[in-house]
Amino acid sequence: MTDNKQNLIGLSRDELGEAMAMMGEPVFRARQLFHWMYHRGETDFSKMTDLSKDLRARLPEHFVVARPTINQALVSEDSTRKWLLELPGGGEIETVMIPEKDRGALCVSSQVGCSLNCSFCHTGTMDWVRNLSAADILGQIMLARDEMNEWPSGVDGRKLKNLVMMGMGEPLLNFENVARALQIVMDSEGISISKRRITLSTSGVVPMMKRTADELGVGLAISLHAATNELRDVLVPINKKYPLEQLLQACADYPGARNARRITMEYVMLKDVNDSLADAKELVRLMKKYKVHAKFNLIPFNPWPGSIYECSSGNAMHRFSDYLNEQGYSAPIRTSRGRDIMAACGQLKSASENTKLKALKEKRARQEKGPNEG
Ligand code: SAH
Ligand code: SF4
Repeated sequence: MTDNKQNLIGLSRDELGEAMAMMGEPVFRARQLFHWMYHRGETDFSKMTDLSKDLRARLPEHFVVARPTINQALVSEDSTRKWLLELPGGGEIETVMIPEKDRGALCVSSQVGCSLNCSFCHTGTMDWVRNLSAADILGQIMLARDEMNEWPSGVDGRKLKNLVMMGMGEPLLNFENVARALQIVMDSEGISISKRRITLSTSGVVPMMKRTADELGVGLAISLHAATNELRDVLVPINKKYPLEQLLQACADYPGARNARRITMEYVMLKDVNDSLADAKELVRLMKKYKVHAKFNLIPFNPWPGSIYECSSGNAMHRFSDYLNEQGYSAPIRTSRGRDIMAACGQLKSASENTKLKALKEKRARQEKGPNEG
């Protein structure tokens, strides 16, 4: 709700139909609205020219087509773009656009903060604040399209071609809203990004993996990061609840993983923690034991103020990558994009919080000094 008006973004086609019925309109209006909102990116009812004049005037009395507000927009030297967004319901999140030559990926957040406390992740140090609504999730994608001038959908040469649910938060702990948003994203009459171009990254919420396959069919990435339970318990604490055996069995059962569509295993490279040849060997043993068709993504650790880890050396990362390649697994070392604008997980949000905190501390120091001394 925005100013007591309902945001139409995030409503399913059926719900849009119900909203139109409440206005005394035929159900096919929902299809027209859907087209304007998700194919054309229109936010202004008065420009929806195939609706009657009367309806165009009445819609804004009850509804809005809302977008998140941009608090900060940054462009990196390598053209990575990052938006720090204020949500209509309150809370700040970030959305990152990583351009590639002929295609780009938008990295979308699913929660404000995260409850899972992975020890190498900056978002994990923040408290969980709330789950994003479907409108909040869709809003990130629609705003990126606005900013890059990529409406209407379906035109060739768009940069925003791929979506990764890899921003702030754990998408599978907010499944209902993530699923609702992705259903709308995949709808061929709207934003129309196919399930083959969507990847959802999870730290391993095993019970929700089957529903992800059945209801969404999107690609799956697992934040694996360790080859033993002992180490994974420390790096990705949800492992204590769903240990490697359960996680890897769920991966083996993920449809599509058996044939063309491999599961991506994300592996953050931490110096002297998980980057030895023995770790790589254990990973291969596990993939074979559970018959998981995997590819690896080796992510250089992105340090943040106060982090207790360091990034592995180039040598260690290459040795690791080479071994996995020899064993038949693709294992590129990801280049860190947008480092200069802190485009790694959770960094910008915290930077802005730090600035706020600093301002608050300074204010308090001035107050303590008293009005005559400062
Ligand atoms: N919660 C989900 C998705 C968001 S995190 C998940 O954990 O999968 C997206 C990816 O960034 C994850 O693989 C995460 O482990 C990784 N990541 C988090 N902090 C990082 C850091 N400081 N350096 C490198 N990768 C990091
Ligand atoms: Fe949450 Fe993912 Fe960060 Fe872990 S890595 S704290 S699950 S956002």
